[in-house]
Amino acid sequence: MRKPTRSREVGRGEKVLPGVWRLRLPLPWPGVPHCNAWALAAGAGVVLVDTGMHEPGSAAHLDRALHQAGLKLEHVRLIVCTHGHVDHCGQAPPIAARAGCQVWMHRDHAHHTAAASDPDQALARHVVVAHQSGVPPESVDRWIEGRRSQGTGQAGTLHVDRELAEGDTVATDLGDWRVIETPGHAPSHICLYQPERRLLISGDHLLGRVSLYFDAGYTPDPVAEFLASLDKVAGLDARLALSGHGRPFTDIPGHVDANRALVEHRLRAVQAELEQGPRTAFDIAHAVYGDRFTEATGSWLLSKTRCWLTHLERRGLARRTGGSPERWS
Ligand SMILES: [Zn+2]
Ligand SMILES: [Zn+2]
Repeated sequence: MRKPTRSREVGRGEKVLPGVWRLRLPLPWPGVPHCNAWALAAGAGVVLVDTGMHEPGSAAHLDRALHQAGLKLEHVRLIVCTHGHVDHCGQAPPIAARAGCQVWMHRDHAHHTAAASDPDQALARHVVVAHQSGVPPESVDRWIEGRRSQGTGQAGTLHVDRELAEGDTVATDLGDWRVIETPGHAPSHICLYQPERRLLISGDHLLGRVSLYFDAGYTPDPVAEFLASLDKVAGLDARLALSGHGRPFTDIPGHVDANRALVEHRLRAVQAELEQGPRTAFDIAHAVYGDRFTEATGSWLLSKTRCWLTHLERRGLARRTGGSPERWS
C-alpha cells in the first residue's frame, strides 16, 4: 500500500554544532520527504549515526551531503543505527564496505535483519496479517505488486558487528554518548545521549513534528513500550534533540507531553469505534485516520491500529471476537 513518490530532493549537509553535522537525505515516501543521518567528529574521522535508505541514486545523495559538510565517506570510522528501519540502516552495508568500518545496532534487530534476509517470507507474513485485518483482497494484491517493483530499501546483507544494549557507549570528540534503549517505534530503537552537553540523538522515538509509528507483531505491547521509553527520555534532562527526520529541536519535555497526548487521543478514538460494535482493524484504521488512510499510507496506519488494539486488549478495554477477518469489540 506504500507507493513511491517522485522525489526532487537532493542530499544536503550542514554543521549544526562544532563536531556535529546533519546529513539530510531524500526519501521516496508520502509525507516523509527526507531523513537525517548525523556525522559526529571522532579523531581523524566521524561516527555516522544512521545511513538513509538504499534506492537508485541514494549513495550519490549521501556523498553530496557529506561533501557539503566538508566530509568524505572514507572518513566514516563507525556506523551506529538508531533502529532497524530502512531509512536508518538501508545503506549501512555498502558504506561499511567502502569505509572499512563496523556497524553497531541494538541487539533486538531481528525484526529487521531477519525480514531483510528473507523478503519473500516477510511479504507472505504481511499478506496473512492484511487478510486477517480485513484489508480488501484487491488492495492487498496492488500492495504486493508495489512492493515487488520497488525493492526493499535495504542494500545487501546487513551484518551487525556489535549488538548494543543499555549503557553501552559510543566515543566521539564531543565525549561519550550513552545508549538508551527506547523500544516502541521499533523493537531495536535506541537513543544516544551525551550527558555533559545534554544532547540527544533521538532517532524516530522523538521527532520535531509529533508523529507516531509502531512496529506491530514483534513484541507484546509496542504502545506500552513507547510510553515507558518516553518516560525514560523525559528523565534525561536533554536540551537539544537531533532527530531522525526534521530539524533539531529544544523543549524535549514539551515534545514528550505532546506524544503522550496524541497516544491518549488515538486510544480514545479507537475505543469510540469499538463501542459501535464488532469491526475489523481495517475498519477501525479507516474511521480513526479518515482521509489520511489511503493505499499509500495504509500499511503504516494499519500497523499502528493493530498496536492500539493490542494495547487496549492488554488493558482489558478491547477483545477479539474471532472470525476471518478477525473482528474487535
Ligand atoms: Zn523508524
Ligand atoms: Zn525514520
